[in-house]
Amino acid sequence: MVSQSSQTRISPEGLVRAPSAVPVDDAVLPFEVAALDLRGRLTRLGPALDDILTKHDYPPAVGKLLGEAIVLTTLLGSSLKFEGRFILQTQTDGPVSFLIVDFKAPDRLRAYARYDAARLVDGQDSGTLLGKGHLAMTIDQGPDMSRYQGLVALDGGSLEDAAHEYFLRSEQIPTRVRLAVGEEWRSSDGGKHRWRAGGMLMQFLPKAPERARQADLHPGDAPEGTLHHTIEEDDAWVEGRSLISTVEDIELIDPDLSGERLLYRLFHERGVRVFSPQPLQAQCSCSRGAVSAMLKSFAPKDRADMVQDDKVVVTCEFCSSVYQFTPHEAGVE
Ligand SMILES: [Zn+2]
Repeated sequence: MVSQSSQTRISPEGLVRAPSAVPVDDAVLPFEVAALDLRGRLTRLGPALDDILTKHDYPPAVGKLLGEAIVLTTLLGSSLKFEGRFILQTQTDGPVSFLIVDFKAPDRLRAYARYDAARLVDGQDSGTLLGKGHLAMTIDQGPDMSRYQGLVALDGGSLEDAAHEYFLRSEQIPTRVRLAVGEEWRSSDGGKHRWRAGGMLMQFLPKAPERARQADLHPGDAPEGTLHHTIEEDDAWVEGRSLISTVEDIELIDPDLSGERLLYRLFHERGVRVFSPQPLQAQCSCSRGAVSAMLKSFAPKDRADMVQDDKVVVTCEFCSSVYQFTPHEAGVE
């Protein structure tokens, strides 16, 4: 249920208000194009993304890929209706062998990547950086609830491709996803570099389920001479899909273009309703207490092996926080 005050219709006729010209960073903006049975979410990330990527000082290509994974996570995880956790992970054989983004509802994000610097070459796209393996999405709603995990094979394609594959195979909801990550330099800022990102997820959710039939992404390897069965896609979905395909990366990350203006630009002919933005922040959930509890769960020998220069030092892979313990505090006999 969405309260009346939290939604605004932006359309030429029956205009409630003009689209806000004020860009809002670090937020997900849900929207609806009722005339086309489309629902979606638009993410804009500025300081939160910059905070996560800068702490790790990733090479630009790795930062961009992790940024894409973060945007995708916000688009998928922000629909969680309860205090839950959405975790997106990739495990692959490419130069970036592991990515994890942990979204804790309603607004907390943290993430890191593992990569082999020696295998990074200029100009590698996200599919090449990932290589082959899989993408896992886990929804965890707490200790009393069952965990849900969705898996998609990664085969040299981008994270956008993987998301499309997931929605086609697992959810069977016509879905389009756009992800964009860029670096911004502002001369007014002494040329300081900042990461920005944006993304959009759009789904076709008609009341009559038979309207949601989709053409297969891959024609498959049917023997020659087999009659090819063509599925006529619904006109509303064809229109929505073609509109989102016109969105350029620069529009998704432009710090001077508000999310509302971008949605209006895309859907003004049909009318678009926007809901209250959901704010996002970069915040790790690690703590000295949690690290200490983790150390105590290790076997005594493993704990003893961690002592170096008469101390035990643990670095959080998500946020690079360093926790230092004496051997006694770490439970070493
Ligand atoms: Zn941390």
